[in-house]
Amino acid sequence: MHKKRLIVIGGGAAGFFCAVNASRLNPALEVIILESSNKLLSKVKVSGGGRCNVTHACYSIADMIKNIPGALYF
Ligand SMILES: Cc1cc2nc3c(=O)[nH]c(=O)nc-3n(C[C@H](O)[C@H](O)[C@H](O)COP(=O)(O)OP(=O)(O)OC[C@H]3O[C@@H](n4cnc5c(N)ncnc54)[C@H](O)[C@@H]3O)c2cc1C
Repeated sequence: MHKKRLIVIGGGAAGFFCAVNASRLNPALEVIILESSNKLLSKVKVSGGGRCNVTHACYSIADMIKNIPGALYF
């Protein structure tokens, strides 16, 4: 039987979010990301000055800081 294939156009935050979640929901799916440039997630890397806030659903400063890669923990 042929494997079902999902082709995601664009290797940015939205494309990766879509690809990862589709793969989690259906592990049998073959997921391919097509990116036109030679850089993946380039905006994510520059966002927040390289310390992208990867969540907006935190309601305490301590939880928020844990979701900022490179942030100092106190
Ligand atoms: C300076 C800066 C700071 C930011 N800081 C934050 C922050 O702190 N926290 C936060 O949550 N967000 C931040 N953002 C916003 C966040 O980075 C963007 O909202 C997010 O990256 C957008 O993701 P996207 O996948 O929609 O688009 P993009 O990141 O633009 O990805 C689209 C991808 O598709 C590719 N593509 C386009 N057309 C084609 C095609 N025809 N075929 C194949 N590939 C194609 C592009 O090359 C690109 O890689 C920041 C953005 C910038 C610019």
